[in-house]
Amino acid sequence: MSTTSNLSASGRFELQPAPPASDEVRAARMQNPGFGRFFTDNMIVIPYKEGEGWGRGALKPYGLIPIDPAGSVLHYGQAIFEGFKAYHQPDGSIKTFRPEANAHRFNASAKRLAMPELPVELFIEAAELLITQDRVWVPKAVGESLYMRPFMIGTEAALGVRPSKEYLFILIASPAGAYFPQGVKPVTVWISEDYVRAAPGGTGSAKCAGNYAGSLVAQQQAKDKGCDQVVWIDAIHRKYVEEMGGMNIFFVYEENGKTIVVTPILTGTLLPGITRLSLLEIAKELGFGAEERKISIEDWEKDLREGRMTEAFACGTAAVITPIGTVKSVHGAWVIKDGQTGPVSAKLRETLLNIQHGLVLDTRGWLHKVI
Ligand SMILES: *Cc1c(COP(=O)(O)O)cnc(C)c1O
Repeated sequence: MSTTSNLSASGRFELQPAPPASDEVRAARMQNPGFGRFFTDNMIVIPYKEGEGWGRGALKPYGLIPIDPAGSVLHYGQAIFEGFKAYHQPDGSIKTFRPEANAHRFNASAKRLAMPELPVELFIEAAELLITQDRVWVPKAVGESLYMRPFMIGTEAALGVRPSKEYLFILIASPAGAYFPQGVKPVTVWISEDYVRAAPGGTGSAKCAGNYAGSLVAQQQAKDKGCDQVVWIDAIHRKYVEEMGGMNIFFVYEENGKTIVVTPILTGTLLPGITRLSLLEIAKELGFGAEERKISIEDWEKDLREGRMTEAFACGTAAVITPIGTVKSVHGAWVIKDGQTGPVSAKLRETLLNIQHGLVLDTRGWLHKVI
């Protein structure tokens, strides 16, 4: 099966696919896939060596990867990742949503962690190969998708503190169920004052593994306070809202009869979300105002109390839009929209999902046809 003569059309990948899982096994896993619990039959691996650059990649059976105990990622954490989705379309095709944007952000993250950049075409080709090979794993229902998880790790066996000279780019894929199978349910959030996610000059705008490691204890604290998620505030003034967990955040204002969606401006400590960027555009098309600016915790409480702010939600690839129903902090708590999903959040969510699933015209060329 696995001979070097089986190359992709570009010649950049060896094709050594696994025998597919049986229909029964796959059907059982796709019945209720949840998020990130099951993986498709195959994965993509591309090696990098300093001086040689990116080598020939391979599409091969999903499975363990060998890593030396001295491998640099295990000690100094050179690890970055991305997340985007492939959607079944009404015409039977499969399309990914803005994958080039993920490829560019992947390279921005790579730069920040002194890792090599991966050519955008290679990132896209890897995704196309894996999705095409494992297309039976792309769920068909609206709200469901195949979640693509590309990542890169430093693998050189050397304990000296410097950038690794060897890396692996790996792409795995996981069927994702509807994030809210029982209907969208607003979350309760805890404003973290004991911990910060990112500081100026740090890695906040890079999608690196370490940002997540550092956030887990704050997420745990939020749970202990009876909340679902943590809200991050800025490291310097300790008052401006930055993000919610691993998602960007939006506020809806009603001012003089006009609806305006507002999201914190990118300061270098926030992760530049592709959902965030997409929603800013969609909001304008729906006739809403769309602004990026600083919002303090004080503004949040006051604007809500005075009736100018009517909704708040978080957004990201995994959950699309998650309304925020209750906000808690050491200073007190407040409820937004009686803890219900607001109409603007619902409209934005529906519009973005309709674009991703091909139910409305993709006027901006956001969908990338795979097969
Ligand atoms: C990935 C991520 C987001 C959301 O980005 P999308 O491109 O919309 O999925 C937001 N915040 C953090 C910290 C993230 O890691």
